[in-house]
Amino acid sequence: MRRLSTFLATAALAVASTIAAGAPAQAAACSGYVGLTFDDGPSNAHTPAILNALRQNGLRATMFNEGQYAAAYPAQVRAQTSAGMWVGNHSYTHPHLTQQSQAQVDSEISRTQQAISAAGGGTPRLFRPPYGETNATVQSVEAKYGLRQVIWDVDSGDWNNASVSAIVAANARLTNGQVILMHEWPANTLSAIPQIARTLASRGLCAGMISPQTGRAVAPG
Ligand SMILES: [Zn+2]
Repeated sequence: MRRLSTFLATAALAVASTIAAGAPAQAAACSGYVGLTFDDGPSNAHTPAILNALRQNGLRATMFNEGQYAAAYPAQVRAQTSAGMWVGNHSYTHPHLTQQSQAQVDSEISRTQQAISAAGGGTPRLFRPPYGETNATVQSVEAKYGLRQVIWDVDSGDWNNASVSAIVAANARLTNGQVILMHEWPANTLSAIPQIARTLASRGLCAGMISPQTGRAVAPG
């Protein structure tokens, strides 16, 4: 019993000194950052469960919202930001933007900026074009609204019925600074979140924000 007390006292001192140094214990474990992204929300059907799973597993992510859904479910946009997530623009109606005129692309992007802002999600600085499809017209409109285009380094394949283990394995391929594509609606993505957290932690990687300056994952802040 005395040995245990001594051990506990020592452990408490170690924790106290870490806190005193101003460095959260979690930060010391991060040798790099990755950008987890969840597209196509928000919704009443999927957003609450995804946010709960992310919070319970200590993960933060970027949610690329469609404007039409931000307008329909503004409380879920606020829930995303309240849960510590970052909110990006994923167009208003999810069209193939490369087949649209500049005016149509402008409408898709600007209405989504307004819908997310009106919902309380702030003004997005990140844009993911639907299907990852982009061209000079899309990029000129992104620039007009100060948006950084974010495609992805790794595709989880969750949109194509990837298994839980395949989604986890895709996350395990991420290296420092990289971004992975996921969606808020596949059941397997929700199921994969605890294992994603464990595989990242085992490699010293933490879930970070995507820098509007570089489009790369960096420390939150
Ligand atoms: Zn999408």
